[in-house]
Amino acid sequence: MTTQTEVSWMGALRAGLPADAVLEDAASRAAYSRDSAPFSPAGEPAIVVLPTTVAEVQHVMRTAHAFGVPVVPQGARTGLAGAANADDGCIVLSLLRMNRILEIDPGNRLVRCEPGITNRALSDAVREHGLFFPPDPASTDTCTIGGNIAVGAGGLCCVKYGVTADYVLGLVAVLADGRLMPMGRTTVKGVAGYDLTHLFVGSEGTLGVIVEAVLALRPIRPPSLAMLATFGTATAAGEAIARIIAEGHVPSALELMDKTSSHAVAELGHPMLSADASATLIVECDGNDPANELASIAGLCRGAGALQVTVAADQAESKSVLEARRLVLPAMQAQAARMPGRPTAFIEDVAVPRTKLAPFIDQIASIAEKYRLYISTVGHAGDGNLHPTVVFDKDDPDAFKRAQDAYDAIMAAGLALGGTITGEHGVGILKRDWLRRELDPVNLEMQRGIKRIFDPTGILNPGKVLE
Ligand SMILES: Cc1cc2nc3c(=O)[nH]c(=O)nc-3n(C[C@H](O)[C@H](O)[C@H](O)COP(=O)(O)OP(=O)(O)OC[C@H]3O[C@@H](n4cnc5c(N)ncnc54)[C@H](O)[C@@H]3O)c2cc1C
Repeated sequence: MTTQTEVSWMGALRAGLPADAVLEDAASRAAYSRDSAPFSPAGEPAIVVLPTTVAEVQHVMRTAHAFGVPVVPQGARTGLAGAANADDGCIVLSLLRMNRILEIDPGNRLVRCEPGITNRALSDAVREHGLFFPPDPASTDTCTIGGNIAVGAGGLCCVKYGVTADYVLGLVAVLADGRLMPMGRTTVKGVAGYDLTHLFVGSEGTLGVIVEAVLALRPIRPPSLAMLATFGTATAAGEAIARIIAEGHVPSALELMDKTSSHAVAELGHPMLSADASATLIVECDGNDPANELASIAGLCRGAGALQVTVAADQAESKSVLEARRLVLPAMQAQAARMPGRPTAFIEDVAVPRTKLAPFIDQIASIAEKYRLYISTVGHAGDGNLHPTVVFDKDDPDAFKRAQDAYDAIMAAGLALGGTITGEHGVGILKRDWLRRELDPVNLEMQRGIKRIFDPTGILNPGKVLE
């Protein structure tokens, strides 16, 4: 039921927006209520606003500020931490319609864009100018640049090219009270003042609404080649990773699949994966002489005890190697289809020091056994960033509880190995309690102070990251 107070602020809100920028029907409000994380609670928004201009975003924030209404900024809601979940009675501010490229500047190798453009659309547009935007989350077709920046997204090629933060030069944000704040630079170098631009990277919509970004680009990358190696133990795969890094190789992807995911992909019929593999490494190189570099890496894998090594001779074979990694999700979906009830996949995100990958994988396998769960682990081994994925029946309260307990156990194991609770998916609601366990109390106090400066009345994405 709409209250009298809601009527007054909603009237003020509608007055400054075109009619088609506002969605109020129950179905739309439900559709925009949550991101892709299955565990995090979500409320029911009072209204969904889809602005197309900066002035409209400012109007939303000024109104919200005047009436004390919470605002939840949203991109494509592919987030996996509940960071874009609505609060009861909030304004959902979806940036999806602000999706224009404002400028591509090959001379300075940068692009200026609005936040709602998808990662794929931006990457395709700059490629036409011989340029490359490296951050490549697996959700690239749908996730937005605003969401990538607000979470600090990563991806497959980050092991060589770095993460989103490394490409954000400047931002324009609308603050909690509606003021517009440009920050950053368009120059290669620049150290004027505190680095507020990078404070916004990973701020998950809690400090301001990003309405424009200036992103650095690289020249388009040369053709790559890939190889695949299977191992009898996670320890042997971990040893191979350590040798590849120690020898100074910088592959453009260094991905690890555990026993469960290797088996699942083998079952789907991928010719390079065998059922006796306890771990699989996929390596891609895009340097000046990828064939030579892969030959050397293949030698290191054999030295670490690889069961089987397949080095692609050409682009077609390379595509088949990389297909093994791409098949992990369909393979898990195939496994889930055989499970009873309403199987749900929950993708975890923990990073550990690279040398701790093997013990971490072994511990995850023990956790799966202890909680009687299907957990398949893949990840960006070159970054030490693993994604254990728990598949469980959402309708079974016991399975739901075991999945949550397993998730806690995985996080605890990652921290105990000197890792971090999130490598690229962010904190959101899901990992808020765990953030307190990871951060030093003084650090946490400073973070709360920063939030108060930017959002003194606490209307911006309340309850996310920090309580
Ligand atoms: C199948 C799948 C694969 C994935 N693979 C990867 C991967 O490889 N690497 C990776 O890093 N992530 C991955 N993700 C997670 C997700 O895609 C990323 O976190 C992505 O950056 C979220 O973008 P989004 O547009 O969907 O943002 P949303 O989920 O809508 O929002 C995420 C956060 O950003 C904030 N936000 C969004 N837009 C703005 C804005 N303009 N201003 C201020 N705050 C804003 C929201 O409030 C929220 O806190 C994957 C997700 C899925 C479903």
